[in-house]
Amino acid sequence: MQTVNDIRTTFLEFFRKNGHEVVSSSPLVPRNDPTLMFTNAGMVQFKNVFTGQEQRDYSRATTSQKCVRAGGKHNDLENVGHTARHHTFFEMLGNFSFGDYFKENAIEFAWNLITREYGLPADKLLVTVYHTDDEAHGLWKKIAGLTDDRIIRIPTSDNFWSMGDTGPCGPCSEIFFDHGDKIWGGPPGSADEDGDRFIEIWNLVFMQYEQMANGERVNLPKPSIDTGMGLERIAAVLQGKHDNYDIDLMRALIEASADATSTDPDGPHNVSHRVVADHLRSTSFLIADGVLPSNAGRGNVLRRIMRRAMRHLHMIGTQDPVMYKLVPALVRKMGGAFPELVRAQALIEETLKLEEQGFKTMLDRGLKMLDDATDGMTEGATLSGDVAFKLYDTYGFPLDLTADALKPRKIGIDESGFTSAMEEQKAKARAAWSGSGEAATEEVWFDINDRDGATEFLGYETENAEGVV
Ligand code: ATP
Ligand code: MG
Ligand code: MG
Ligand code: MG
Repeated sequence: MQTVNDIRTTFLEFFRKNGHEVVSSSPLVPRNDPTLMFTNAGMVQFKNVFTGQEQRDYSRATTSQKCVRAGGKHNDLENVGHTARHHTFFEMLGNFSFGDYFKENAIEFAWNLITREYGLPADKLLVTVYHTDDEAHGLWKKIAGLTDDRIIRIPTSDNFWSMGDTGPCGPCSEIFFDHGDKIWGGPPGSADEDGDRFIEIWNLVFMQYEQMANGERVNLPKPSIDTGMGLERIAAVLQGKHDNYDIDLMRALIEASADATSTDPDGPHNVSHRVVADHLRSTSFLIADGVLPSNAGRGNVLRRIMRRAMRHLHMIGTQDPVMYKLVPALVRKMGGAFPELVRAQALIEETLKLEEQGFKTMLDRGLKMLDDATDGMTEGATLSGDVAFKLYDTYGFPLDLTADALKPRKIGIDESGFTSAMEEQKAKARAAWSGSGEAATEEVWFDINDRDGATEFLGYETENAEGVV
């Protein structure tokens, strides 16, 4: 069996042999982009290279990039435990060309790697192209010999990538693996494409235009390539699994969670073990990259992820802190590829343990309050915004944690009531401050508070209370 570590090495080695510089993953906290919460793709560390603002002494690179998608534009937190293919933390394998090779080579590299090096059967693969990209369509036919029905033209923004409102942009082409008709789901572009039968493994972005502020789109003199393949997804395919959580790496973490709680990894707590395994990775890597739990910004997202994991451990029935005990299993599996994990191991364990100890009492009390408040409620009922806010304010329950807890009973939350309760409390705090005679300081304080308040709720708008684990 090819382990996750073997599969990563094969990828980087393949591109190294083809003239690419092997570059380390950049940290999860982006250095060059204050608007981005976490690094969420391989190209993030190369943004300025693509725009020409920064020069490197290589024009081809390959990476295995640490990514977190739990907050901001890409938020997969709610998908964890529900789909076979989403994590909050994952590795994105990528190859990049900075004005060097373009479409033809990119398609050729991708096809050769997956069918020759990795040995995937061609008849299980299909691809998408942007509907107007006849060039890519023709290249897939020529290079891979794919028939027309296996090259799907997609007219949506799913297959057109842009860096922002202006800057480099272009069509993309995605490679999908067909896991077979025992699994529900249709091919990309079909009505049931959200199913898990056809899984997107690799996205090739062809940066060929520059979007100008005046709305014009001009051809880039030297087009570039940016690709991203989910390591866990390709590992699932190569290990003959459908589900990312069944690969050697995730399985080891699920088993560690089961062992530490003396439960069956595949028993009734299976979903909780999956959530714990996923959240263990995102929290540990975030701490290793310098994020600490707090009530604002990045630290708040970290805290929310930690607390969600802790509620799942509580559901499994543990009384004492447990999550920190799983860190050695993670370090064993990933410390080789990511030495920062080894260096930060003590800090990660300590942080998880403290957070778990601190939250334990509040978790117990909050859950008791929630039980009382929902006593006698039946399916379809709604928890008042005031109670949800009290749980947040007094017991430190992020709104999504409360939603998570109510989901099995199909009870919703009055989210707008929650927001008004929050606004009301802010207004009260403001009133209490007025008259202290330090107008300037005050203003700054509330500015920060408002701004952080906004950051804190990043993602809540996009979160669907119904869709929580
Ligand atoms: P999906 O449509 O499945 O959510 P995506 O189109 O959002 O994926 P991209 O932004 O194209 O993903 O990222 C490139 C690759 O990274 C994907 O093809 C996939 O293999 C992987 N990937 C994306 N999101 C996740 C995730 N949350 N967990 C694991 N792998 C992911
Ligand atoms: Mg996605
Ligand atoms: Mg997609
Ligand atoms: Mg994609």
